[in-house]
Amino acid sequence: MTSNTTEQGVKEKISFQLTSEIIRHRLKSEGARFHANDNVSDYIFPGELETLQEEVELRVKDLLKSLLIDIDNDHNSQDTAKRVARMYLNEVFKGRYHKQPNVTDFPNARNLDEIYTLGPISVRSACSHHLVPIIGDCWIGIKPGDKVIGISKFARVADWVFSRPHIQEEAVMILADEIERLCEPKGLAILVKAKHFCMCWRGVKEPDTSMINSIVRGDFRHDPSLKQEFFELVKQQPSALTCN
Ligand SMILES: [Zn+2]
Repeated sequence: MTSNTTEQGVKEKISFQLTSEIIRHRLKSEGARFHANDNVSDYIFPGELETLQEEVELRVKDLLKSLLIDIDNDHNSQDTAKRVARMYLNEVFKGRYHKQPNVTDFPNARNLDEIYTLGPISVRSACSHHLVPIIGDCWIGIKPGDKVIGISKFARVADWVFSRPHIQEEAVMILADEIERLCEPKGLAILVKAKHFCMCWRGVKEPDTSMINSIVRGDFRHDPSLKQEFFELVKQQPSALTCN
């Protein structure tokens, strides 16, 4: 075999490699974690998201076929695979495949050190176990440090973090890590109240159950009165800590 034909063979082999295999190889060789709630955008090169979407579409088609849905003749299901692939990669799980929205920080010029709370910020996710929706509200309490970020940025970052398959407890921790990284607050408190479709659509079918969890860091953790103040402020908000 000449070197040209060998090269040709290698190229053909590469061209038949699935995009997910190429990206997975990159992740593994860098030792990067790629659990359901991790962002992998740094490992997706330009143009690959489009071919990954095509690959996912083919896989969803196979899933529909295995579910014995006649995708060739059922007019409602003909484009479902395409829609689902687009929805996963660019909408409901965009927080895995797309980079974090740009967040500019500003110096805390007036040395504000009073706590403030934001919320409710609506959050939408899906459980890692069944990929069915988790929909809820999030409240964030901040005791500023040397940097501040615009209020709307918290909602953008929360949306980005939650738009991945999750379990709620880990989603709140990841959001806290991101906010700490972005504005290095002296204190941070986050509370999430969410409805899990895992519980109301399937399983025990309890439509009214919500899960509430919270995380407190920095001054909120060390100072019980500050923590109390955050929960009091959140309680005053409509829909918080009630079962509606
Ligand atoms: Zn589940």
